[in-house]
Amino acid sequence: MDLDYSPEEIAFREQVAAWIAANAPRADERRELEAWRAWQKRLHAARFLGAGWPAEYGGAKLSPMQQAIFNEELARAGAPGPINAMALWWVGPAIIRYGTEAQKKRFLQPILTADEIWATGYSEPGSGSDMAAAKCRAVRDGDFYVVSGQKVWTTLAHISDWYFILVRTSTEGPKWAGLSLLLIDMKSPGVEVRPIRQITGDSEFNEVFLHDVRVPAENLLGAEGQGWEIVSSALVNERSGIAGSVRFDQGFDRIVASSRLRGHASDPLWRQRLADLAIKARVTKSFQLRSMSDSIHGRINPHMSAAMKLFTTELTQRFSETGIDLLGAYATLWEGSAHVPDDGRCAYQYLYDRSMTIAGGTSEVQRNIVAQRVLGLPRK
Ligand SMILES: Cc1cc2nc3c(=O)[nH]c(=O)nc-3n(C[C@H](O)[C@H](O)[C@H](O)COP(=O)(O)OP(=O)(O)OC[C@H]3O[C@@H](n4cnc5c(N)ncnc54)[C@H](O)[C@@H]3O)c2cc1C
Repeated sequence: MDLDYSPEEIAFREQVAAWIAANAPRADERRELEAWRAWQKRLHAARFLGAGWPAEYGGAKLSPMQQAIFNEELARAGAPGPINAMALWWVGPAIIRYGTEAQKKRFLQPILTADEIWATGYSEPGSGSDMAAAKCRAVRDGDFYVVSGQKVWTTLAHISDWYFILVRTSTEGPKWAGLSLLLIDMKSPGVEVRPIRQITGDSEFNEVFLHDVRVPAENLLGAEGQGWEIVSSALVNERSGIAGSVRFDQGFDRIVASSRLRGHASDPLWRQRLADLAIKARVTKSFQLRSMSDSIHGRINPHMSAAMKLFTTELTQRFSETGIDLLGAYATLWEGSAHVPDDGRCAYQYLYDRSMTIAGGTSEVQRNIVAQRVLGLPRK
């Protein structure tokens, strides 16, 4: 693979950087729902979203390299990603792969425009890593499924319009074989959403209770019993999405600035620790280029996403721990304090990054996948 950028790619990068500078939401707007939604609409109108999606449903004609350049420029500018990232990474691709023509026409365009935001419901109080044990029941009743049960840790359920949910349609045979995937309108009677307060103070995820929710049978994605297959391929996209969205460039600049501020820049032990982070950050970039090269050349290696997710999310924690160690007691100060470098970002990031080795499957689960599927070690 040629790692140099072509003149066209350099021109594309300049064009993207200029576009982002002119269009990104202001820092004070970034946590507002409508500003974030409007930002995604602008990204879609400029044809930056849905790379690889069929053109008739609004997909963009970006090459994998252009997509990577776009993501890098977004990160470099500190601009937010699209609000509907989960739907762009795995719900839309699942509908493209398993959906009926009517489902594609109904759901894909509003995902791209963020007119409809999606949440994903796999985890339940008794089934997280062991997702195949999901108990949330969907019983067929004429042209409807009647869904009852509970999901937990559903990111963005409180602002979502639709729910991509794993349900049990059968208790016969192996547990994974009785699972199906439904698309549920969150406004349906019987859907109850309760936000969960996180350690950062935010409430990004929720408990969702389903009390005899009637769902039209036409909202079954794929066939009855195909839920495990659909979710397995969606999880590959989720892990690649998480791994691909992590960018260390700005984080590293902040750590170097903190080490100068604290007078550690010429301390050999600190220099070694920072060099180690810089090397690992460079490794993640090579991972991402390798994965892009695989997709350009049609080489499918679904389990690489587990290795990439494991490596990048563990590294985010090493970054925030280093930031905390560098700032010492100052690191405990929160946003808005006059005495804290980096406006309290370090403390927030440290708390937030704990979640990244859990979301999308824990690090232990990723290690199991790498051991069995990549290294071919026996299952114990
Ligand atoms: C920020 C965030 C966002 C999330 N968003 C969503 C969402 O939108 N939708 C959704 O459905 N879920 C979501 N989740 C839930 C997430 O998928 C689960 O938390 C995760 O899969 C782990 O499940 P669990 O919490 O039930 O832990 P458990 O599965 O109970 O695991 C507990 C501990 O046991 C370990 N363990 C479990 N099984 C094994 C094994 N076989 N081998 C070795 N160790 C094992 C785990 O690694 C963990 O340390 C989110 C989680 C986070 C943190």
